Amino acid sequence: MSPFATLLLCSIFVSPTQNVEPGASGQTVVSADPPCSACDEVVRRVLPLLPKPPVRVVVIDTDHSTKLLRDKLEGVEGFVTTGNPTVYLTKQGSTFTHALQGPGIWDYALAITVWHEMAHLEGASEREAQVKEETLWLEFVRSGKVEANRGMAYLGLLRKRSH
Ligand SMILES: [Zn+2]
Repeated sequence: MSPFATLLLCSIFVSPTQNVEPGASGQTVVSADPPCSACDEVVRRVLPLLPKPPVRVVVIDTDHSTKLLRDKLEGVEGFVTTGNPTVYLTKQGSTFTHALQGPGIWDYALAITVWHEMAHLEGASEREAQVKEETLWLEFVRSGKVEANRGMAYLGLLRKRSH
């Protein structure tokens, strides 16, 4: 039995262009909708794990979104929209839910989700984003940040995704 129950899923939505101001001195803007300090804490743990920081991360609580959005986000861990540098994470996503329980391996799983979405923001296709995600995961395993057996099991799951 794999230690990880579900795979990371991703969606790209098209939305009207939004103006998003980068944070002061290049710091990542972190927020949740509605506000959730535990969510901010998770994101702040995850950011230093990334090779470079995203401009903005917003955690969406789908319990508080419209039914339409909730249905669209069913099973989605993270997403981006066109014309907006924000990486959106879903609080109800499997990875985020696990990370909310405290520091550990799920922080790394969430980090590669953010990295995947950042790849899309730079124009990557789904396959290209998955490769970037898998590459960063392997770095976590090789450097011992993620325990090798669990890490390789998860990589197996990542690689089984439909491309
Ligand atoms: Zn994707």
